[in-house]
Amino acid sequence: MASQSFEVTIVGGGLGGLCAALSLRQRGLRVTVVEAAPELGEIGAGIQTAPNASRILIGLGLRPQLEAIRTQPEDQVRRRWADGSIIAQLPLGQRVIDQYGAPYWHYHRADLHRVLLDACADPELPGPTVVLATGAKVVELDRTDPSRPVAVAEDGRRFAGDVLVGADGIRSAVRDLAGFEDSLVFSGEMAYRALIPGDLIAADPATRFLVDRYHSTIWYGPDKHLVHYIIRGGQYLNVVAIVPCTDTIERDWSGPATPEQLAADFGDWDDRVPAMLSKAKPEDVSVWAMYRRRRDPVWVDGRVALLGDACHAMLPYQAQGASQSMEDAAVLAEELGRVTRDGIDAALVRYVDRRAKHAGMVQDASLQNMAFYHLPDGPEQRERDEKLRRFDGESDLSYDWLWNGSPLHDPDTESIHYQFAR
Ligand SMILES: Cc1cc2nc3c(=O)[nH]c(=O)nc-3n(C[C@H](O)[C@H](O)[C@H](O)COP(=O)(O)OP(=O)(O)OC[C@H]3O[C@@H](n4cnc5c(N)ncnc54)[C@H](O)[C@@H]3O)c2cc1C
Repeated sequence: MASQSFEVTIVGGGLGGLCAALSLRQRGLRVTVVEAAPELGEIGAGIQTAPNASRILIGLGLRPQLEAIRTQPEDQVRRRWADGSIIAQLPLGQRVIDQYGAPYWHYHRADLHRVLLDACADPELPGPTVVLATGAKVVELDRTDPSRPVAVAEDGRRFAGDVLVGADGIRSAVRDLAGFEDSLVFSGEMAYRALIPGDLIAADPATRFLVDRYHSTIWYGPDKHLVHYIIRGGQYLNVVAIVPCTDTIERDWSGPATPEQLAADFGDWDDRVPAMLSKAKPEDVSVWAMYRRRRDPVWVDGRVALLGDACHAMLPYQAQGASQSMEDAAVLAEELGRVTRDGIDAALVRYVDRRAKHAGMVQDASLQNMAFYHLPDGPEQRERDEKLRRFDGESDLSYDWLWNGSPLHDPDTESIHYQFAR
């Protein structure tokens, strides 16, 4: 393959960076992932992939590994804060596979990350094995030779490549070092993340309904909302609870929290909510300030490209941040995978053309959802609930647009996609 002759350095081994590494490897490119943490991994929390992202993961040949770790919700349920009454219910499960050719799945983040990592590192799989460098915090870019940018780690290690991809998250060092605009914005909100043991949920008659049938649930209330779903086949209920941010968390970005604090923040909601939240495992409750990046279509500077939260960090109000980074990965691999070294610059331009507008629309829609989700009770809230009942999406973006994802050229991905549908 013509493209085998060049190398890609990816800074950041999160879900976006690893998905890109695997996608590029499969196209025959030599990839090095440079990660600051001493060990590659993910936080103890859940994650959802809608069909736009599941399709990409399955297209990478990961279906059996994903089926071993995923939990499939049967419905998406939207509830009112005060009494838990159901505003709307949408079938997911097989309906989504039939309609979009790929599933809506939930996982423990660490499990999904492990599947990607194993596939990057497996010498038996097609393409050059991905080289993983850990404990390598990138603090400098050496662009003396603009066609061979070098990521320089704190300990002096140097990682040169024909392309350098900054997949180093919302506070991307590559973004700053390469001189991209500072686009970080604080939202004023914070997110609790918690894991609640499934057996405690099942043992309490007040919360048993949460494990009788697997849902992806959103509760809507004034200034707050709550998302929960089952992961690891019932081992945990994963919770994300968004509330106004405290000064301490705004300053520190994240911190520990207690089940009592979490339950108290929802103390005036339907009794089942504090009953559920108070069962969280104390060591699995944390709280995170919600920052985002302003929409900015500049993702490439010479041979330095951005991917994932580094270029389009969004509020999690559509559960699409990592999913959009997977779309970035698929498109970047399609573009770089079909050129020789001479074609790299044009391939990077096409990557941005195919992705920046799309991801920017998802960023904007996620931001719109902040106000949309948190309306006080009244006429606007009733209008919103009416819209939710129609299930044509929840922002200006329809689920059809979001879940079909960025169009891909690759026929292999398409064929896997159709095999999945019945
Ligand atoms: C509460 C919440 C819920 C969410 N739920 C969902 C969901 O259900 N579905 C979904 O699709 N998205 C979801 N998201 C968004 C998703 O978590 C992020 O968009 C995604 O994890 C970003 O992936 P990334 O690889 O771009 O960045 P990250 O996951 O942040 O990875 C960046 C990596 O770069 C490394 N790094 C950082 N700096 C350096 C450096 N200087 N040198 C070397 N390495 C470095 C970091 O250690 C890290 O490993 C949610 C977000 C939040 C906050």
